[in-house]
Amino acid sequence: MGILVEAIGAHGPRGEKNVKDKLGRRIDYLRISVTDRCNLRCLYCMPAEGVAYKSHGDILSYEEIVRFAHAGAQLGIRRIRLTGGEPLVRAGLLELVRGLKAIPGIGELSLTSNGILLAPLAGRLKAAGLDRVNISLDTLDSQKYAQISRRDSLPAAWAGIRAALEVGLEPVKINTVALRGINEDELPALAALTLKHPLHVRFIEVMPLGDDLDWARQHLLPLNEVKDLIGTVGELAPARVAGSGPAHVYRFAGGLGTVGFIAALSHNFCHLCNRLRLTADGKLKPCLASDVEVDVKGALRAGADMGEIQALYRKAVALKPSRHKLQQYREQGRNMNQIGG
Ligand code: SAM
Ligand code: SF4
Repeated sequence: MGILVEAIGAHGPRGEKNVKDKLGRRIDYLRISVTDRCNLRCLYCMPAEGVAYKSHGDILSYEEIVRFAHAGAQLGIRRIRLTGGEPLVRAGLLELVRGLKAIPGIGELSLTSNGILLAPLAGRLKAAGLDRVNISLDTLDSQKYAQISRRDSLPAAWAGIRAALEVGLEPVKINTVALRGINEDELPALAALTLKHPLHVRFIEVMPLGDDLDWARQHLLPLNEVKDLIGTVGELAPARVAGSGPAHVYRFAGGLGTVGFIAALSHNFCHLCNRLRLTADGKLKPCLASDVEVDVKGALRAGADMGEIQALYRKAVALKPSRHKLQQYREQGRNMNQIGG
């Protein structure tokens, strides 16, 4: 990875920090999707048949991603999250972790994963510079796991969670999409994991992306209902956890971890939005819930210099909408696996 750092130069952050948008939102967080491929097919995310094959030329190389992140760090990007698709299905991810962590100004590097391939890699990811991880888990029941993800992989996901704790990735968060009629009966048990383990379970409302918007509408479980459901486990007191972003966070008395709620639909938090998203195919998205995109791949491949790349960041920041329109259940071009969450 020394190679990548040399290729982009080892400059420190250069002055122009803290890019803000027209609403004064400071954009310091970049989510990078490294692939739209995945070893699961979650009902709310991915078509059952998977995604069309993309050649290496279609997706950004690790060198291109690092160059792009380096330009962002000079504009005030301080935190990066790797996501997908499933980021661990892309070969050589350790190389990317090392390259991103070596960028001056990048303080925190995190990963969102389904955890299935994590157990054998967790120690090396940590050694390469990964700080923390979010692992997706919607159920503790094998059959239900297979129903939701269309794959029978719960033991591997659990092994990934255990390994993340063992190697000291900190905090380990669990992303749980709350689904009416599918996993609502299990939400108390998932929340109760935080009593005995230092896990931070975050409940997420299902967002209408992809082909079947009616499915998302039917299964939306507003998080105030989730909060009532898990109130059966114990009394919740307000708490804090690193990098909680828009989540409302609580702790059960005596609990080792926390419980958080991310209610993108029922409690809009766009005024707190601090992020841009880079898709695997090289588009910069000002908003997860909009088809507006800025092409980055073309510029990178045409040899854009740091200033030209930064102009693309500024363009995307200027295009950030004041708030999303997910409540309108309108069709969009990408499924979540093509955005990154
Ligand atoms: N494969 C990795 C994983 O599952 O953690 C990373 C990519 S996945 C797209 C990132 C997050 O988005 C996951 O926590 C997943 O549960 C969430 N997600 C996917 N589709 C969603 C949807 N329609 N609504 C809400 N969250 C969704
Ligand atoms: Fe794959 Fe993550 Fe989407 Fe599930 S949520 S299909 S694990 S990308």
